[in-house]
Amino acid sequence: MSYPPLIEWFINDLLREKRERRPYELWVTDLISCSNKYNLSLRYPEYARLTALKPPILNGTLIHQGFEAIIKEMGLGIIEKELSMNVNVDNVRYMIVGRVDIIYDNDLYELKTISIIPDSVLEHHKDQVNIYRKLCEENGIEIRHAYVVYISPRDGIKCYPVEKADVDISWRVKTIVHNTAIPMYDWECGYCIWGELGFCNEGGRKGG
Ligand code: SF4
Repeated sequence: MSYPPLIEWFINDLLREKRERRPYELWVTDLISCSNKYNLSLRYPEYARLTALKPPILNGTLIHQGFEAIIKEMGLGIIEKELSMNVNVDNVRYMIVGRVDIIYDNDLYELKTISIIPDSVLEHHKDQVNIYRKLCEENGIEIRHAYVVYISPRDGIKCYPVEKADVDISWRVKTIVHNTAIPMYDWECGYCIWGELGFCNEGGRKGG
């Protein structure tokens, strides 16, 4: 389909790689995903970028940016704070990098768009928030409470606190290095572009 110039520009911007990975750099989102996704993304970045146009992702990007723009305009909190820490695995030093959506008054907020708001925080969102907590601690930022904020076109907005819990970051890095978390969570293959594109065997358990 061809688009008028403004929309073409908008789509191209969505597909543009916003930030190159540095060597031995892993993002928090890699640590809460199937390790095969990470390895396939490195090998086929042009396909990985296509996920930006999937309707739930596109919708999520726009709501996310809108929410953060409003908070920024109100002068409340720190938006998209990039934090990093080092982790040694198999005698190699990896840098874990994450962007915390909002820190306000020592409380951390992670925004999530979702079609139906669940009754409690989803496991991978808990893990993500607790990795962010760890990143904040390592960077001298004290976090009092952490929340996941769900925004849904059907259900509106709901905010859940996330209990502090340990997440084994070294183990997660190892799963990526050795490609052993295929998938990390049971539901992942059903929502994965790599399966749709035919990069994984039937059942989505292998591939690359
Ligand atoms: S289809 Fe499943 S196994 Fe394959 S990359 Fe996606 S989540 Fe991982």
